[in-house]
Amino acid sequence: MLTKRELADRILVQEHFAQEHLPGALTSQQEAQLTDEILSLLKQKDACLVAHYYTDPILQALAEKSGGCVADSLEMARFGSQHPASTLLVAGVRFMGETAKILSPEKRVLMPTLEATCSLDLGCPVDEFSAFCDQYPDHEVVVYANTSAAVKARADWVVTSSIALRVVEHLADQGKKIIWAPDKHLGDYVRQKTGAEMLLWDGACIVHEEFKAKGLQELKKVYPEAAILVHPESPDTVVEMADVVGSTSQLIRAAATLPNRMFIVATDRGIFYKMQQAAPGKVLIEAPTGGTGATCRSCAHCPWMAMNGLENLRDVLLRGDQEIQVSTNLIERARLPLQRMLDFPVSS
Ligand code: SF4
Repeated sequence: MLTKRELADRILVQEHFAQEHLPGALTSQQEAQLTDEILSLLKQKDACLVAHYYTDPILQALAEKSGGCVADSLEMARFGSQHPASTLLVAGVRFMGETAKILSPEKRVLMPTLEATCSLDLGCPVDEFSAFCDQYPDHEVVVYANTSAAVKARADWVVTSSIALRVVEHLADQGKKIIWAPDKHLGDYVRQKTGAEMLLWDGACIVHEEFKAKGLQELKKVYPEAAILVHPESPDTVVEMADVVGSTSQLIRAAATLPNRMFIVATDRGIFYKMQQAAPGKVLIEAPTGGTGATCRSCAHCPWMAMNGLENLRDVLLRGDQEIQVSTNLIERARLPLQRMLDFPVSS
């Protein structure tokens, strides 16, 4: 039985599909032409392409080929801020473009489409979230990177899934109580691991929430030698079955370093491009999702990430529209909690 929130999320995704926002299929000749065109436009426009692990492998390959980067949201923004290009072209979802803008306010930040968003960002509107925080003034506000610039500006800390445990542990050691937003599964995982006193916002990722423990158990029976890699935005029943729980970068590292030859991977299937590069010769299998339901067919791929394609990427370079705008005031306020994370000692 779906909750009201899950149903609303599904309707939201269906609306996007219904409006045909997804790029159409291209022939290999069209792909090659567009790739050449984009490579030359990137040079002409002094632009650098940064792509997220969950985007189409064609875009990830293009980012690498053009001297850009493929990474998680924070690394994308960090790479962009250190790159000499005056324009950053961000293939991903909107909060990633905003994070890039916050760390590089002097640069123009473009995206293939500004309509690519995220269920975590959508499920945490700043007015509601701010009113919630106001009720608990003695709590430290920790938000996940998958939030709008306005929500980041309301927070004391911004964290990614790779650093969330360490930051919350650090705060709990100081006796701090925490408001966590927006992902309830990741929040619950962090709470269990750290024992911190945490109030959780009720948000979820529509992709990771679809992974199912029952299907995973059945798949594990077929491939008992496979290690299970799980992103902590997944439900706790799936996380409990994991050999490794971690961020996108941590899961890629695990596939490369664990001795197993086979992995069942519970995160967006876009990650397979970089994971296979890091672990050549190893077998990667998608973790099972909910399958075909009454309202939509669930799959391990984000519908908003899928809105990034070669054509709209070329178009935005030609037209220069789809630019991320964040006010100076918001940039200044959102930068503080982001910087706190960037300055947090990595090896603590
Ligand atoms: S995969 Fe989930 S968390 Fe990532 S952008 Fe899509 S909806 Fe948001």
